[in-house]
Amino acid sequence: MKNIIISKGYKTILAGMPDMSVIQIPEPETVAVSAMDIPYIRPKLLVKENDPVKTGTPLFCDKRNKRIRYVAPGTGIVKHIVFGERRRLLEVVIGLDKKNEFIQFETLPLESIDTVPRSKIIKLLQEGGLWQCFREFPFKDTADENHEPPMIIVSLNGNDLFSPHPRVILENNINSFEFGIKILSLLSKRIIVTSRRDNLDSLDRLNGFKEHITHIVPDFYPAWDPGVVLYQLKRTREENRSWCISAEHLILVAKFLLTGRYPVKRVVTITRSNDKKPHIITRQGAPVKNLIGNLDENSLITTGRFNGRSVDPQTHIGFFENTLNIIKDNQKEELFGFIQPGLTKPTVSKTFFSCLTKTPKELDCNLHGEERACINCGCCVNICPVDLMPNFIIKALLSDEIEDALSYGLLDCCHCGLCSYACPSKIELTKLLFHGMDAHYKDKE
Ligand code: SF4
Ligand code: SF4
Repeated sequence: MKNIIISKGYKTILAGMPDMSVIQIPEPETVAVSAMDIPYIRPKLLVKENDPVKTGTPLFCDKRNKRIRYVAPGTGIVKHIVFGERRRLLEVVIGLDKKNEFIQFETLPLESIDTVPRSKIIKLLQEGGLWQCFREFPFKDTADENHEPPMIIVSLNGNDLFSPHPRVILENNINSFEFGIKILSLLSKRIIVTSRRDNLDSLDRLNGFKEHITHIVPDFYPAWDPGVVLYQLKRTREENRSWCISAEHLILVAKFLLTGRYPVKRVVTITRSNDKKPHIITRQGAPVKNLIGNLDENSLITTGRFNGRSVDPQTHIGFFENTLNIIKDNQKEELFGFIQPGLTKPTVSKTFFSCLTKTPKELDCNLHGEERACINCGCCVNICPVDLMPNFIIKALLSDEIEDALSYGLLDCCHCGLCSYACPSKIELTKLLFHGMDAHYKDKE
């Protein structure tokens, strides 16, 4: 195991870490496949309302590559097809029945997997709705099947501070994980498996599992993000097109190839203050309202503490989402807030006394002011885990100087959201960077 040294990121301890208990909640009445958390997809519907579907029935494909399908995570009837602005597909909702029928796909042999052609594995995963688990840098788009990636990064730690703990994900799934690693070795010559340092002790009880970990990353956010890991490891230009996959998705891929059935169970964490915080086992695409229970007024639900999307309780959780943060949305002005000691306020710039204590801090949505002009304080530069100067990049983007933005490293941005969080001028840096990258992607198409 090698250590990856990362010095910048968010080091404050936040309240809300889920405990290690696991509960299974009853089957929901509906599930959905959301197109909202799949970047760059151009969905083409393959079903209409009231069509009967089984687990594994394709619901929509990607017009850019129609072989890549997104399949039903349950058996029942297509209840609603929800569109957003300009008829952009948001989600396909399935009303579940109790039949639990599956489409049976071909299986692959565990013992002689080395002899199976790469093309066959890819075809099966595309048909079975799991090819999307592989993401390709720099855009984290669905992986290009015609490209052999120089490296595949497997992250044990999800993409949020409060993502499910790898021990919960891996318990009883070690064989599937090992099979998944064999599959990866047929797709690329270099496999990197990363873990947070503070998870290592708890992984001890998974006999021998730690041998698979190749790199250890620090415990602060977002050191375990595959984009940050790639930034630290890459040595050649070609490596910019490496792939990544989460441990949870690797297990799904392995289970699917071994059983020929689309795996529907997912582990989700719900974090909110003053609440018991277990890991929840549910079905993929479960309704948000079933997962969160009662919601206080003035609460915001997001799928990531610094960079998730904000979700409506009437919608369903997406394929890539495995945590729901319930955050107080309190926008009240604080009288003379600037001279308060701020003993419980998280602070990046060490403005408040809270920086002297190690008690976990509560984050809320209060912006404490409106957007102002950049004051060149350097907070965004000092926190960026991939050594970017977000302030320079957005100035280039705002003046339409995309080449300058690229030369400042725009494509290394992993959208962790820390620069926006740290900016005292409340500039939405991450959003601007994302739009810049998005525009560059569309220009290339
Ligand atoms: S530029 Fe901002 S969003 Fe991008 S990696 Fe750096 S801190 Fe994160
Ligand atoms: S943190 Fe905000 S104000 Fe400070 S340099 Fe960056 S963009 Fe400018």
